[in-house]
Amino acid sequence: MARIVMKFGGTSMAGIERIRNVAGRVKAEVDAGNQVAVVVSAMAGETDRLVGFCKEAAPLADPREYDVVVASGEQVTSGLLAITLQAMGCPARSWLGWQLPIRTSDAHASARIAEIDTVALDKALASGEVAVIPGFQGMEEGGRVTTLGRGGSDTSAVAVAAAMRADRCDIYTDVDGVYTTDPRIVPKAKKLSHVTYEEMLELASVGAKVLQTRSVGLAMKEGVRVRVLSSFDNPASGNNDGTLIVSDEEIAKISKELNMESQLITGIAYDKNEAKITLTDVPDKPGAVSAIFGPLADANINVDMIIQNIAHNAGSTDVTFTVPGAELARSLDVLDKARGEIGYGALTHDTKVCKVSVVGVGMRSHAGVAATMFKALAERGINIQAISTSEIKVSVLIDADFTELAVRVLHTAYELDGEDQAG
Ligand code: ASP
Ligand code: MG
Repeated sequence: MARIVMKFGGTSMAGIERIRNVAGRVKAEVDAGNQVAVVVSAMAGETDRLVGFCKEAAPLADPREYDVVVASGEQVTSGLLAITLQAMGCPARSWLGWQLPIRTSDAHASARIAEIDTVALDKALASGEVAVIPGFQGMEEGGRVTTLGRGGSDTSAVAVAAAMRADRCDIYTDVDGVYTTDPRIVPKAKKLSHVTYEEMLELASVGAKVLQTRSVGLAMKEGVRVRVLSSFDNPASGNNDGTLIVSDEEIAKISKELNMESQLITGIAYDKNEAKITLTDVPDKPGAVSAIFGPLADANINVDMIIQNIAHNAGSTDVTFTVPGAELARSLDVLDKARGEIGYGALTHDTKVCKVSVVGVGMRSHAGVAATMFKALAERGINIQAISTSEIKVSVLIDADFTELAVRVLHTAYELDGEDQAG
C-alpha cells in the first residue's frame, strides 16, 4: 500500500466526460490498494472567466472578495469528482480549503500555505475513502477564503503530499512529461524520464506550462517525489511513466540501477521575458556599480545578467544588465531618478533579447560546457550579448530573432536529439 496524491489540471477536469476519465484513474489506484488524496483544478478557462467577472464588477476588486469568487471554480470540480467517484462505487468526500483546513497567510490572491491540518484527512484515508481537495484555495487566520496565485493548485498538491507524507505526488496534465526543450521548436526533443528539482527549477521556462515553479521549490524543500504525466494517454498502453522530479541522490541511484551514464546536459531552456538595459559612460571608480544596483535592489527589482565593459575612454565604462521584462518601466524610472548619483551618459534598453540556457547537474563535474555552447553559437553567427553561469547552468543573452535557431543548434551540439516527434 502506498499513500499517493493525484493532481488533475484544468484540461483534465473540463467537463463530465473528462471527470469520468479522471475518476477511472483514481479508482484504479484505490483498487490497487493505495490510499489516495486527489487535488483538482477548476475546469479549463473557468478561473479566467471568474477573474473577468471581478474586473468587470470593479477594476480594483477587494482582494478578499476576489478570492471568494475565483476559489469557486475548484469547489465545483471537487464536488463533481466526489459525485462521479461515488457513482462508480468508490467512496469519496470533498474537503474544501476551510474544512481541512489549509491554513495560509492573509496575502489574498497570492497567499502562502502555512500549515495543513491532516486529522480529517488521515481519518478519511484510513477508512478507505478518497479525499478530494480543491487546489488553489485555503483559509487565512480570520477564517476567510484565500487563493494561492494563478497555477497554484500544483503547489496545493505538493503541500498536501508533504503534509500527509505521501510516497509520491502524481501531477496529471495535458502533456506527457518534461522534455529536453520545447518540442514546438525542436521536434526531436526527448521526454526526460527524470530530472532533479534544481534542474526543473532552471528549466522552468520550458516547463512553465507544466508545473507552477513555486510547487517545484516546495517539493525540493519538503523532499516530495513528484511525477508529471498525461491524463490523456491510454493507461493500458503502458507508455505513460511521465517524468519523475526528485533529488540528486535519488537520481544518482536510479542511473546506477539502470546502468545509465549520467548526462552532461539535461535540457535547453529559453526565456524571452527579459529586457536589457545599458548605461553608458559610467564613472570607472569604486562605488559606481553599487550606485546602480543599490536603488534597483531597494525597488525589489531582480537583476539577472551583468556585464561591465572595459573602460573605453578617460575613466568611464558601459554597464549592461538584464531585468524581468515586466519590470523594465520601473527599472528605467529608478535609474532615471538615480542619474545624479550614478552619473551616467545615456540610458538605453532593448526588449528584443532572449536568454538561452543549457542546464544539467552533470556539468558540475565536467569542464568545457560553456566552450561547446559558445562555439556552437559562433558557427551559426549568433552574437552573445551577455553571459551568466551557475553551478548547473550556463546562460547567454542573444537577439530574440535567433531564439529558435540557437535552441536547435544547442540541442544538437549536446547530443540531445531523439526521434522526430512530428515525423
Ligand atoms: N484554477 C487556478 C488557475 O487557473 C489554479 C490552477 O489551476 O492551478 O490559475
Ligand atoms: Mg496548471
